[in-house]
Amino acid sequence: MEILRGISVAPGVAIAEAVVLDAEEYRIPRRLISATLVDAQCDLTDRAVEASIAELVTQRDDMRGQLGQDASDIFNWHVGVLQAPHLRDQIKQLIREKLFAAAYATSIVMRTYQRRFLKMNDPILAERVRDVQDIERRLLRNILGEAREDLAHFSKPVVIVAHDLSPSQTAQLSRAKILGVAMDVGGAASHTAILLRSLGRPAVVGVADLSSRVSGGDVIIVDGANGLVVIQPDEPTLEQYRAQVERYTRIRDELATLRDLPAVSKDGVEFKLMANIEFQSEVPICLEQGADGVGLFRTEFLYLRSRGEPSEEEQYQAYREAVLAAKGRPVTIRTFDLGADKYTQEKFIEGEPNPMLGLRSIRYSLQRLDMFKVQLRAILRAATAGEVRLMFPLIISLMEYRQAKMVLHDAIEDLEDERVPYNGDVKTGIMIETPAAAIQCRDFAREVGFVSVGTNDLVQYLLAVDRGNQRVSRYYTSAHPAVLRVIHDVIRTCTRAGVDCSLCGETAGEPLYTMLLAGLGLRCFSMAPHNIPEVKKLLRMCTMKQMERVARRALSFETDRQVVNYLRSQTRKILPDDPI
Ligand code: PEP
Ligand code: MG
Repeated sequence: MEILRGISVAPGVAIAEAVVLDAEEYRIPRRLISATLVDAQCDLTDRAVEASIAELVTQRDDMRGQLGQDASDIFNWHVGVLQAPHLRDQIKQLIREKLFAAAYATSIVMRTYQRRFLKMNDPILAERVRDVQDIERRLLRNILGEAREDLAHFSKPVVIVAHDLSPSQTAQLSRAKILGVAMDVGGAASHTAILLRSLGRPAVVGVADLSSRVSGGDVIIVDGANGLVVIQPDEPTLEQYRAQVERYTRIRDELATLRDLPAVSKDGVEFKLMANIEFQSEVPICLEQGADGVGLFRTEFLYLRSRGEPSEEEQYQAYREAVLAAKGRPVTIRTFDLGADKYTQEKFIEGEPNPMLGLRSIRYSLQRLDMFKVQLRAILRAATAGEVRLMFPLIISLMEYRQAKMVLHDAIEDLEDERVPYNGDVKTGIMIETPAAAIQCRDFAREVGFVSVGTNDLVQYLLAVDRGNQRVSRYYTSAHPAVLRVIHDVIRTCTRAGVDCSLCGETAGEPLYTMLLAGLGLRCFSMAPHNIPEVKKLLRMCTMKQMERVARRALSFETDRQVVNYLRSQTRKILPDDPI
């Protein structure tokens, strides 16, 4: 048994066999073969080893002259590993004795090598782990051919273990069979992490070297609340975690009873609890969790999922489906937030030294007016089906907002000229997710229809901490006193100006921050649908006086540690049994 620590992304406990995905998305299933196939699988292994050696030799020779001695040495080292007879012997032994399929046997042997290198105290040898992973990938490609893993279909419940998953890969994961996810890299506020949370499954990221330590078929526990991953747990540990699974199920069932009750404080103040979605198909799940509407539809995932650029018709159908499914509740459609970590295979914005500060979001849309206009037309058309709000992301200046509105007016005029049915009466607003927008909130409040605070980016830009980098994740926190003051200012400014203000960053769905945000004056929260019941439960158990006192005290601290400790103690007083 091995226990590894990472960063908690989504709570809950998952216990299942691991499916290990490498960077190229190969699945290495624990596949057993019949005895009659042993020879064929051994031959397949030989062919894969030979093909891999041939590829390496060709690459090395092709690049001779361009490569320095070090690079040639690396190729030679790879060839040497593949030529060593004991490599094939070990793989074939597993095929013959355990009836493992060639791919699975190869992955077991290569991961044993990786573990051995990882244990060495010599940093140069430890670096070899990446080379062994490379060799493994090459071998698997030659064994499995083009049979890529279909992340949407698994035949039995699994825990996904991966080095890293991009947001678009994560978007393919299906809820049906995936019980949990754990990855080597990533931070709690990355877009991948957000998608994992919206899967509603326990997830842990930033678990260094996890994918090298796990073999497909190992039993894994993902302890989402504590950020732990247990590999091959012993029986007492399994028992303990099985009891926790039951506890979570009990808490979830109890929370489900709140679905149709209003989100209202003990003394009668009403709140709106909205949901964040990535796909139109999630709207029914939001309603099941008691959402008052969609506070953030991250439309870029339509783009990330489709092979090319989604057409106006495709987008129109997607937005319309969301609006109809919301059954009269408002749907806030955010225009594409492409760029940074959310790019498409075709539209990869190359070579940006600082992608998070680069051509992303509204900046990208305003440079791609053809694409932007298509999206706006689709949204205006879908607005004939129900209440739509239109939100522009990553705004830093009034000029940007005005430019976006101009493109919107162009789209309206075109639709009018073409006599295409549309509804131009949509409220437009902005996300406050840059320090510039937060500081200039008073000016924006005079012009926009609503604002939504995006703490995921706001924290990143206020604290200069990459939201997706596990190496700096301990600096990334909404509890930083500077962040609290900025959020407080924005809420206060909007309240005074009479402009709707919601908060749709992940902080809105964390019970730890519920009393604080309500006490600061926030009345509309937008979050992953699965977080709604717990936030509602908390709001219903508190009076405004109590929450305002918590907010005042939280604002008085000088460090994020003090803030977190205080909020945790206050939240535990109200919800002593829930994992916070
Ligand atoms: C945010 O930045 O808080 C936000 C909600 O947008 P995203 O997470 O999609 O960047
Ligand atoms: Mg954002």
